[in-house]
Amino acid sequence: MKKTPTFQFIKSNQKNERSGQTMIFIIMILVCLTIVVMLNFDVHKIIRTKTVTQNAGDAAALMAARWQGITLNLEGELNIMHALAMVNDDNDTIDAISNIQARLSYVGPMIAFMAAQQAAKNNGIYVNDDFTARIHEHADKVRYVYPTEPDNNGNPLFPEPWPNAWSEYADMLDTVADNGIAAAPDNQHLYADYTSGHPLLDIGFYEAVAGRNWCWFVHNYPNYNVARTDPPTTLLEGYKSYPPTWWPPLPFIPNRQYINSETFGLGINKLTTTFDSFATSYNAAGSSDSHINTSSSISNQVSTWYGYSSAAWSKWDSMDVHGSQNFPVVGTVRPQYNYTGADAVIRIIADITRITPGAGDSEVPQQITWTAAAKPFGMLNEADRPNAFQIILPAFKDVRLIPISASSTPSGGAFNIPWRIHIENHLTKYLAEGPNGLNPDCWYCSQLSAAKGKWEDPLFRQTGANWLAIPENKNLCYTQSGPGGPGGGTRVAH
Ligand SMILES: [Zn+2]
Repeated sequence: MKKTPTFQFIKSNQKNERSGQTMIFIIMILVCLTIVVMLNFDVHKIIRTKTVTQNAGDAAALMAARWQGITLNLEGELNIMHALAMVNDDNDTIDAISNIQARLSYVGPMIAFMAAQQAAKNNGIYVNDDFTARIHEHADKVRYVYPTEPDNNGNPLFPEPWPNAWSEYADMLDTVADNGIAAAPDNQHLYADYTSGHPLLDIGFYEAVAGRNWCWFVHNYPNYNVARTDPPTTLLEGYKSYPPTWWPPLPFIPNRQYINSETFGLGINKLTTTFDSFATSYNAAGSSDSHINTSSSISNQVSTWYGYSSAAWSKWDSMDVHGSQNFPVVGTVRPQYNYTGADAVIRIIADITRITPGAGDSEVPQQITWTAAAKPFGMLNEADRPNAFQIILPAFKDVRLIPISASSTPSGGAFNIPWRIHIENHLTKYLAEGPNGLNPDCWYCSQLSAAKGKWEDPLFRQTGANWLAIPENKNLCYTQSGPGGPGGGTRVAH
């Protein structure tokens, strides 16, 4: 049978079409494969970086906590030497020991800080220039601002624990920073920090505004303006837009005695009392191998000892399953571990660059942040916590990782640099000038602005108030808060 030319024409055209389709199909497969290969590369890179970051963070936190334990043990040994010197009436030695103890409570944590850097670097983390610059900046502040800052009465706001202490402390900070900071101390408690008590100092406030989390206001500031002239209501309903400034002024920085380092501080205190007050309880506990000489010749003499600050060393409530935070653990903390106190929290940031095409540039730099917390543990004897008798004695033998939420890290983390810049540099101007004083480049400032859907916009707050005015909505704040309880979720890491 002879094929008609028309038919042949049609057939050959179909053939071309098919091979064209095959080409498109092959190209599609190639594109898909390329993306899969790139994605695979990225995933591996991310996982690797994440593992490296976690290992380095954990190692740095454990190392810092180990040095905290070593320092506490040294303070304890010095207390024992102090007791022995008292037996011999050797006042010069007692003075020398006290001087060493005062310096040790700064030098020890600084060694912890330095050792943490080494641990992070040994685990493959590079120096972070922002961290390094921040520590150098702070060293300058310690050196030049701390010695001269007056309090309201013209007395020094930051009295030195020993002559020239701030200069020596600044030198130590500079030495650590000169080698480069890879692991930032995330539970720094800087002397110039506001202690608490103001919504603008609460990082949760900014997050609530950004995420329109109206329940946050019910849980955290239900009657915030009760002390003011308006009837009691939530901060959301009570707030009045600028001008004038509605916010109360920021709290004062308290004037106190400085004994502990800002970084990895040990939470210790000077106790001026008789040795008897410790020894009585120590002997009552039935310790047979006590190496403290409780000779009556020293028992009634008043002297200054290094002990545990009761504010820092208390019950570990944040780990309490029945406590206010409803910590999600099974069982209760064993009594011999049930104490807060010295701990070390580390923040590590590693940069990774993706090669998979994203929404913007082909090379998208991203950051992986890892925080880890660790704590020295120990026992005085089989059953007693290290802080059972107030006075520091050598007791720390172990170090463990602990949950971040059970650590002493402040809200938002001490080394969240944009947050620190906001509270240190922007808030005063905002309180004085209202939204005009805000910094346009700051995320926290932008939450406070008068732009549509932000805090100073009355309509934004009205939206929230209207939502909360409906009882079913308000009930959601309580029924959907989950295991975290009233805070709307516990901050639990790993
Ligand atoms: Zn700001």
